[in-house]
Amino acid sequence: MRRILILSVILCIALVFAAGSMPLSAQAKTTFVTIGTGGLTGVYYPTGGAISKTINKKRKIYGIRCTVESTSGSVFNVNAVMSGDLEFGIVQSDRQYQAWKGLAEWKQKGPQKDLRSVFSLHPESVTLVAADDTGIKGIKDLRGKRVNIGNPGSGQRQNAIDALKYAGIRFQKDLKAESVKAAEAPGLLQDGRIAAFFYTVGHPSGAIKEATAGRRKVRIVSIAGVGKLLAEYPYYAAATIPIKFYPAATNKEDVPTFGVKATLVTSAKVPDEVVYAITKEVFADLEAFKKLHPAYQGLTRHNMLEGLSAPIHPGAIKYYKEVGLLK
Ligand code: GLU
Repeated sequence: MRRILILSVILCIALVFAAGSMPLSAQAKTTFVTIGTGGLTGVYYPTGGAISKTINKKRKIYGIRCTVESTSGSVFNVNAVMSGDLEFGIVQSDRQYQAWKGLAEWKQKGPQKDLRSVFSLHPESVTLVAADDTGIKGIKDLRGKRVNIGNPGSGQRQNAIDALKYAGIRFQKDLKAESVKAAEAPGLLQDGRIAAFFYTVGHPSGAIKEATAGRRKVRIVSIAGVGKLLAEYPYYAAATIPIKFYPAATNKEDVPTFGVKATLVTSAKVPDEVVYAITKEVFADLEAFKKLHPAYQGLTRHNMLEGLSAPIHPGAIKYYKEVGLLK
């Protein structure tokens, strides 16, 4: 009797150990992935939400549980994806190019060899917002003013520096440059603590609505005549901000400027099946995805493969080949 008892205790212990070492696939396996986005009033944050929602709906099929993190922006996202802290990040196309080539913030670290692109998303434009009482009507008028050029870690910071440089303004010397996050800039502008701010963002964006809808009268300033800038940097293109999204802004015309694209990136270390599933689900019902934010209006299956500098992840390539988007 005692022997039977001892044997059954041993058997129980063995069973517990066996269950613990069971392969994950035999248990109900869930793969957790996180997408790095941007500030809560930008377009990256709802975009991360849109992608998560799309893939989480198919949790029973893929076992993927996707969450979103608000971050300081493109540069932070590239670095977090490279260090493995995040599986995916939304990143400006110009930043993807620089990270892949080892330029700008990656000059010291060198090319980010494990960076992989998945697809591109909405267009983003370099948006300069200024208070009417400052008299700022063009980029040259920023000289001597207190201007938020963006936090380190953001995409817009380098775009602001490039635009200023092109206008002959050195950001360290010729203006009082602030380095706060885009989500804080509208409040500072309304409180009279800054004269203007730059934000590279899709439209409509909560931050630009907030900046233009307060008591202080505010306009979106054009960054026109930038032909040379566009010729110098292959990743910049002319862009227009539709003023209809910001009825409270004092200018009533669409605003010419330049811009880039938002893109989804990942690491070569992220498994093919995860990238495949996300790509497939976003593309499979693109019309439903496009309804999730007005900034996606112009997205097509073809233009979502444009603006990618890092190699496309093999998981995404598999899907693009299946549907004939890639040969
Ligand atoms: N383009 C910005 C950045 O790279 C973020 C814009 C957004 O959050 O929509 O930091």
